[in-house]
Amino acid sequence: PNKSILMTEAPEGYSGQGFFTTKLSDVVGLARKNSIWPLPFATSCCGIEFMATMGAHYDLARFGAERVGFSPRQCDLLMVMGTIAKKMAPVVKQVYLQMAEPRWVLSVGACASSGGIFDTYSVLQGIDQIIPVDVYVPGCPPRPEAILDGFMKIQELVGKESIRRRNSPQYAALLESYG
Ligand code: SF4
Repeated sequence: PNKSILMTEAPEGYSGQGFFTTKLSDVVGLARKNSIWPLPFATSCCGIEFMATMGAHYDLARFGAERVGFSPRQCDLLMVMGTIAKKMAPVVKQVYLQMAEPRWVLSVGACASSGGIFDTYSVLQGIDQIIPVDVYVPGCPPRPEAILDGFMKIQELVGKESIRRRNSPQYAALLESYG
């Protein structure tokens, strides 16, 4: 006999309330993307734009990111803003490595992304030479709106990321490629 049951009514206790199903990774992503703790690594002019981004007018806090921290172990988004001299590069890398997984990187402005106007022997020509970057924000300097846009793109990545990716061999190989 066919024992399948066709449900025509809501399960007991849910009548009239409505309910939905989802995946655990979606719930984790939703929570994570709305509670990002940024670590601002600001070395020069782009850092000034970050101050405006945190101010009342642009208000990064409305995205759940008001808790800016300077302890890498407590933060999950590294925001690099400004010129990174080659002597500073090991410090950026060390800060990144001290952050716990999952972690993301936002490169703000031309200098952090490519060396910008400082095409010279002493300046790192982009932080992606030493650490993986998730989103680049163009501009010299980028306006606060552009920084917010970059942040929202990070939120998209965070929300969609599988909780398994960080344990994958592909991710390990990516990190390995940065030495
Ligand atoms: Fe300054 Fe332009 Fe470099 Fe930003 S990108 S740190 S504004 S020179």
